[in-house]
Amino acid sequence: MFDNLSDRLEAIGKRLRGKGRLTEDNIQDTLREVRMALLEADVALPVVKDFVAAVRERALGAEVMKSLTPGQAFIKIVNDELVQVMGEANDALDLSVRPPAVVMLAGLQGSGKTTSIAKLGRWLQERDQKKVLAVSVDIHRPAAIDQLQRLAGEVGIDFFPTEPGADPAATGEAALERARTGYYDVLLVDTAGRLSIDEQMMDEARRVHHAVAPAETLFVVDSMTGQDAANTARAFDAALPLTGVILTKADGDARGGAALSIRQVTGKPIKFLGVGEKTDALEPFYPDRMASRILG
Ligand code: GDP
Repeated sequence: MFDNLSDRLEAIGKRLRGKGRLTEDNIQDTLREVRMALLEADVALPVVKDFVAAVRERALGAEVMKSLTPGQAFIKIVNDELVQVMGEANDALDLSVRPPAVVMLAGLQGSGKTTSIAKLGRWLQERDQKKVLAVSVDIHRPAAIDQLQRLAGEVGIDFFPTEPGADPAATGEAALERARTGYYDVLLVDTAGRLSIDEQMMDEARRVHHAVAPAETLFVVDSMTGQDAANTARAFDAALPLTGVILTKADGDARGGAALSIRQVTGKPIKFLGVGEKTDALEPFYPDRMASRILG
């Protein structure tokens, strides 16, 4: 057994070298390795199929067939294709609207929304000197509101208190009004999540979205959920006009499969990675770095 995709491809490359030129058969074997490695990284099956087809097309071109180091040439193709699928370059937050710019986070319960709000608040305040207000419209879970209040205090951003039992959309509107009159640059909106997708949650998220008209609507997803991440992403993408993704708990997921699936399924850029529980554990997402990680 090889540990990662790079090792597998290098080994195949070595085997092939003794045999001279690459053939379509050899390439077929190599593609099987790619397919297995991606499935082991928990990439969703339809995504794996598309990916392997794209690599096959390029590999059958002259560059690999003629190469003296076919393994290397193959790895380069896989790497390039991974980077391309994941979006080429980092997509930054686009807050170029008349302030306050609203950033709404949506995702399942436990995906890391509240933690990500604190991380983003800190990021925007420290790096961009933004004046930030945070609100939770998760009126169903007072504990979630308390958690946001505590984290907001910890990172030094302002917190808009939520009335328990109030309407989520009306709460969002009230927070937006406060952000306007208080000359805030950014309003961060934490929404209700449940343990699985349900219509009521999506409906509520849509109403909040309509009320606060976000500049950015970010889908927050736990990278450890692997293939499920792709299904959840599909459902949220259908319900809300997402502008990007925050992939959390990347510190615990060495395989990176979720990044590939989510980007392919939604077509929306991953903008940030959550890399730990602390409020400074947020990184911009770079496709080339994630590709290296998937390749091992
Ligand atoms: P929410 O229900 O979506 O608001 O999720 P929370 O923000 O409450 O996060 C759920 C759990 O995941 C908490 O224990 C967080 O500390 C943890 N968490 C969130 N983001 C990350 C991350 O990037 N890495 C790690 N290791 N843990 C995270």
